[in-house]
Amino acid sequence: MKQNILPSLLLTTLLSACNPFGDKSTEHYEMGYSDFMSHVENGNVEDIELKATGYNRQSITWMTDTLHCDDLPVDTKSCESQETENGASNDNETEISYEYSISVPVNENVYDRVDPYNVEIKASNEEQSQLFDNALLTLFLLTIVGFVTRDRWMPALKARFNNSTDKTNVTFDDVAGVDEALEEVEDIVDFLKNPKKYRERGLKVPKGVLLTGPPGNGKTLLAKAIATESGVPFLAYSGSDFNDSKWMGVGTGKIKAMFAAARIQAKKHGACIIFVDEFDSVGRTRAAMASQGSGPQTSGMLDKDNQVNQLLVELDGFKSGNDNIVFIAATNAPQALDPALTRPGRIDRNAHIAQPDIKAREKILKIYLAKHDCEPDVNPETLSRVTYNMSGAQLANLVNEAGMKCIKDGRKKISSDDIEWAKDKMLLGAEFKSRQFSDEERAVTTWHEAGHLYVGHRHPHSHPVYKATNVPRGKTLGVVHRIPDGDISMQTMAHLKADLAVGMAGRVAEELIFGK
Ligand code: ADP
Repeated sequence: MKQNILPSLLLTTLLSACNPFGDKSTEHYEMGYSDFMSHVENGNVEDIELKATGYNRQSITWMTDTLHCDDLPVDTKSCESQETENGASNDNETEISYEYSISVPVNENVYDRVDPYNVEIKASNEEQSQLFDNALLTLFLLTIVGFVTRDRWMPALKARFNNSTDKTNVTFDDVAGVDEALEEVEDIVDFLKNPKKYRERGLKVPKGVLLTGPPGNGKTLLAKAIATESGVPFLAYSGSDFNDSKWMGVGTGKIKAMFAAARIQAKKHGACIIFVDEFDSVGRTRAAMASQGSGPQTSGMLDKDNQVNQLLVELDGFKSGNDNIVFIAATNAPQALDPALTRPGRIDRNAHIAQPDIKAREKILKIYLAKHDCEPDVNPETLSRVTYNMSGAQLANLVNEAGMKCIKDGRKKISSDDIEWAKDKMLLGAEFKSRQFSDEERAVTTWHEAGHLYVGHRHPHSHPVYKATNVPRGKTLGVVHRIPDGDISMQTMAHLKADLAVGMAGRVAEELIFGK
């Protein structure tokens, strides 16, 4: 009965609110079974309603016009003041009826007990409605729990750039200095634009492209540009989207969901691109292969293996000629990938995007400097030399930091000093303003840097000194910055010896001036 208090209260309120006569009300009481049976035996009871309230449980509802205070667990005084044959002490017009609820002992046969006294029994299907209420409540709770924990068990996952190409308005012109990589993907873009042309000639286009190279050099940017240039939907994910340390099988389900989503898009739009960044976190070499069969496999390892297996199944399931899906994966660690993923017929095209060389840096700097007003002393060609070893992302950030400094100082145009300031901040850290150094510390630092500077400047095989400073910054107390004349892809023995000499010169200078 308890679970049904709320619905019955609501029902009672509703009924009394809707009562068109407004002159009859009902009061509810509970009564003991033995008291009730005494009333039955005394012939007070004409009809009752028998309700099943749960497994093997019943209750009786008895409607009467008489209040039986002696049988009720209620305050006697107030009860007695009301005790009445209905209407006897009611001066006003209101008629009151009394509804008694009686719980039936387990296994009691009410029919047999009341039958001799001509009591009419109406059966009620309350159990069903209660079961229905319970089922509704359970469903409601399950829905809430399911919603809260949906990330744990739902195989579906969201693509970062959704399936619309107009969200990635990056074009090939925005990706500078990656000519070799562009060459690798140009025919794929052409295929995505017009798959029929290739199919008709019976040509097989690569199902997948692996973009490799150090971080921040435009792998993601290139993938976005491929999507824009080909004009097909682009579903983007990160390898970590497939990791779930608590639930086995979730990652595998997500891989299935990813390919299913791509197939729908490909059907709708003719073709589709799947892009997975940080691919090594999902496509890592399977455990048995990695450990060459030694040692037991944990459930986590098996789960990861299943993800790779699922990737292989899905890649093979493309059925060239039907799906027109191109899978683009990006990673900084291609050596960690399972070799089965990159074998011919799967992700077999490789476009490597290396750290930009001097020419590429110039192109990248031009793209970002073109977005700002610059002083005439800002020269991308000169800057490309002094930004040796910087990635595309660092170059973009360099121009951005210089622009921020410019705004902070209240100037309109970026100067070469702003860029120099930004470069020092990025490579060496912010200048120390609050920390005080003793005179001795400053003197030692200055002589130390002077040693590097002297040998760096004089050594015939050292790269030219670009800058020497004893201004302390986040990572250093001072620095001597040498930059090669052009890009170098290998070190000679003479260069390495020069580096050693310049490196030790700082300490030697300290000893010469201050002793050991
Ligand atoms: P990756 O995926 O290789 O780690 P991203 O493509 O995410 O690197 O590059 C990060 C950001 O750096 C880009 O959004 C862009 O602003 C800049 N960037 C990197 N490489 C280039 C490039 N070759 N041309 C233009 N901008 C670049």
